[in-house]
This record gives sequence, C-alpha cells and structure tokens, in this order.
Amino acid sequence: MKYPEIKNYINGEFVNATTTRTMDVISPLDGTLLSTVPMSSSSDLDTAVKAAQAAFPAWSKTPIKERVQVFFRYKTLLEKHLKELSDLCTEENGKIYSESKAEIEKCIELTEFATSLPQLVQGELLEVSKGVECKTEYVPLGVVASIVPFNFPSMVPNWTIPNAIALGNCMIIKPSEKVPLSCGVLAKLLKEAGLPDGVFNIVHGDVEIVEAICDHPNIEAVSFVGSTKVAKIVYKRATQNLKRCLSLGGAKNHLMVLPDAIPDMTAQNVAASMSGCAGQRCMAASAMIGVGNIDAIVDKICDEARKIIPGVNLGAVIDKASQERIENYITQAEKAGAKIIVDGRNAKVVGKENGTYVGPTVIDFVTPEMSVAKEEIFGPVISIMRTNTVDEALAIENANPYGNAASVFTQNGAMARYIMEKASAGMVGVNVGVPVPREPFSFGGWNESKFGVCDITGKSSIEFWTKLKKSTVKWNAEAGVNWMS
Ligand code: NAD
Repeated sequence: MKYPEIKNYINGEFVNATTTRTMDVISPLDGTLLSTVPMSSSSDLDTAVKAAQAAFPAWSKTPIKERVQVFFRYKTLLEKHLKELSDLCTEENGKIYSESKAEIEKCIELTEFATSLPQLVQGELLEVSKGVECKTEYVPLGVVASIVPFNFPSMVPNWTIPNAIALGNCMIIKPSEKVPLSCGVLAKLLKEAGLPDGVFNIVHGDVEIVEAICDHPNIEAVSFVGSTKVAKIVYKRATQNLKRCLSLGGAKNHLMVLPDAIPDMTAQNVAASMSGCAGQRCMAASAMIGVGNIDAIVDKICDEARKIIPGVNLGAVIDKASQERIENYITQAEKAGAKIIVDGRNAKVVGKENGTYVGPTVIDFVTPEMSVAKEEIFGPVISIMRTNTVDEALAIENANPYGNAASVFTQNGAMARYIMEKASAGMVGVNVGVPVPREPFSFGGWNESKFGVCDITGKSSIEFWTKLKKSTVKWNAEAGVNWMS
C-alpha cells in the first residue's frame, strides 16, 4: 500500500473512524493499491458536527475581512503545492498531469473569488422613512455539509470550501470514497493557512454517511455533486428533513454543429471536449448534432480523435465498472445500427495492464432513441446525430432530461443567438466545447442536472450559504409613529 490508511479529519486532527469497514483506494492508472478509506459511522459524523458546532460561534463572529485572510494564504499554499496536488490527483483519479494541473489552477481561481467576498456582501442600508433605517446583512447558516463526486478530487471540494467557510459557516465534507486522498492535503493546507480547528472537517464514507448527513438535526444545509440518481435521493432526503439543499446531478451535453462552422477549430474543440478527463466531466460533449452536411467536419473530428492516445494524452477512467459500462454503451450502439468510426474498446497501455482505459470513440449515424443518444455515458465517447434543420436539433436537445450545457459551432451570429436562447441548458456556449463559466460567474445546470435554487459557485452561491437578516432601526425620537415606522 503506497500511503498510510486514510483517517477522518475532525477538529484539526486526523483521527481514526470508529468503524472497521474500509474500502481499497486503487489508482486507475495501473491498479496500484494506494490506501484504504474508512466507511465511517453516523457516530463519526456526530463527532464532526459537534466540533463544527463548537467552532461556529467564534468563526462566524470573526469579521469577514479577517476570515478571508485565511483564503489569501490558502491560495498561496495551493500555488506552492500545485505539483504535489496535481500528482496526487492524477494518481487517485487517473487524469493526465496537465488536466490535474488545470484542476488545481481552477481551485486557485475559486479561492481568489472567495477572497473578494467582502466586496460582495456588504448588505444594504436605507433610510426608509424619517429617522428609520432598514438594513440587510448576510448571516452564515451554521454547520453545513458538502458531498462530492470522484471526477474532480480537488476542484469540486473547492467549489464549496472557500465560499461557504469565508461566509462564516463551518463545514463537513464527504469526499468520494474512490478519490479520498486529495481532501486530506486540502485540510493540511487550510490548517497551515490559519483556519481554526473545527471549522473544516472531513468524514469519509459511503451511502451511510450521506444518509446521516441528510438526517442530522444540526446540519443546516447540504450541497451535493454527483449523479442524477443520487442527487435526487439527497435532495429529497435533505429537504424532507427541512434542510436547505443544492444538489447537482449528471449531464448529457449537446454540441450543435452547423455547416458554416470553422472545420479545424470545431473538430479540435469537439474532440477535446468529449475526451478531456477521459470524458468524465459533467461539462463534456457527449452528443453532437450536425445540422445539414457536416461530413468534412466529422472526418476532422475523427482525425483529431485518432491523435488521442490512452496513457499518453488520455487518462484512465475511474474503475473497471466504468470501463465496462462505457464499452457496453459502444457495443449497444453498434448493435442498434450506429457506425463506430473510431473505436476505443479494448484499449491497452503497455506496462499498465491493470489500468482502466477506454480510447476515444466516435459513433456516427446515431438516432435519438438509442441509449448513447439519451443517457450519460461518462467516458471519452461522442455520439453524432444528424438533422436537416436547427429546430430538429433543438427538439432533440430539449427532449433530453438533463440540462447542464449546450454549445453551438457556427459563424452565423443570429443563428447562434437563436440556438442559445432555445437550448434547455443552464450553461450555453458559442464555438466553445466546454462552456464552463469562470469566476465570478456561477456554475449550475438546469432540469435534472440541478435540484434546488442558486448555483454552487460565484456570486449565486452567496445566497445559498447565507441567510438574510433584515433590521429596522429608529434612532430619532422625533420621527414619530405611523404605520411604517
Ligand atoms: P455518484 O452519484 O455515484 O457519487 C457522488 C457522491 O454520492 C459520492 O460521495 C458517493 O459516495 C455518494 N453516493 C453514491 N451512491 C450513493 C447513494 N446511493 N446514496 C447516497 N450517497 C451515494 O457520482 P460519481 O460517480 O462520484 O460522479 C460522477 C457523476 O457526477 C456524473 O453523473 C457527473 O455528471 C456528476 N457530476 C456532476 C457535476 C455537476 O456540476 N452537475 C459535476 C461533477 C460531477
């Protein structure tokens, strides 16, 4: 085992879970056993909640301009530990180093945003009638929880950590049991940055801990990022328990390609979007709809895909089950009559025979009722459909239950605008393969890609992590008494 067994992080200390149930943490790159992760019990969660509750009065009373000083230092520490965190991300998640580095750079940008929060949460004050002032303040909620997926071991935790904590909350995070190592390094960096003990805690585990989080009476809000199936379970359970909940689910993102699209740029963007992070991004292009004759662009997409080599510029998928699921989707499409032009099945990386790789896959002549057209595959696979009109393409996009992202490739501004307006997705783009908004713009999809109000990052997240206090104050005795004073 490469690393010592993983511990929970509670009240500023790495501590053993009270359970003996563990899971192996396997590197998808080559099957190396990295560590074991405890499947904590609800009593471990309770200990973490108590630590967070104890830390909350002092932390929430610390002025925000002081709280963000921790995040100025945390940002510098992320920069200093960029290589260590990127290496660890590659090791536990399987993505290639440049993708891991980009992930940590995004963590830095997210932290940079949190340091700007004092500029965004001053509240408002107005003399509403003679001598009477109304004021609003953003007040932290208390103990909050963040449940995260495997595909971004550092970035998704940092969607929530800097903003929720800088806004005065104390947090418990439940990392994915598949990639539990990176969060431990984040905990060390937060401590080194001066975050008081108990403000940030990690409880490892699986379903049991997620359920315990949703049920715990002293957790005020829950954010979840993962598959739609679990996002629904968490949203229902947390809100049933009268908690605030923001639950982000899976995706099936459509790229609409018009014949006037710039061929080389389009092909490069489509190939990069579908294969980046081995297709395990909730913003990855998964379905492409060509409107009219786009054969020349499809040829170029295939040329680009053939340059993507597993183990070189394409990482591994997370585990054997994912590898099998993705390959099954390709086989199903083949059986249903689609054409596999670039086939990523049975990918092998010499010297890494126990790694879990799927090569880039381009499936053409897909029809809307095929499973590869409708379902999230979460692998480096693009399913190409063809229509005669933009409205037919939009009908396919609109019929999909998800709604994370959609993008159009064209040089026609009016057409691009029309498609952006009609696409049923929270994040849309023009000539961009992965239309992820950058800070301070917020991240969040629509439909079955997100349950709850607010987005998880950017300005929108302020509303999620705080509640408004409204005060009405009268200092002036001569102001008199009437219905509005
Ligand atoms: P997942 O839903 O399997 O797991 C996410 C978290 O939920 C993990 O911490 C896991 O331990 C826990 N969990 C798993 N099954 C559970 C259950 N039955 N009950 C309670 N908790 C459970 O997701 P994943 O495989 O880790 O991540 C991939 C998915 O996440 C994809 O669907 C992807 O689209 C989605 N994702 C979405 C976004 C977004 O912004 N919308 C971002 C990243 C990933």
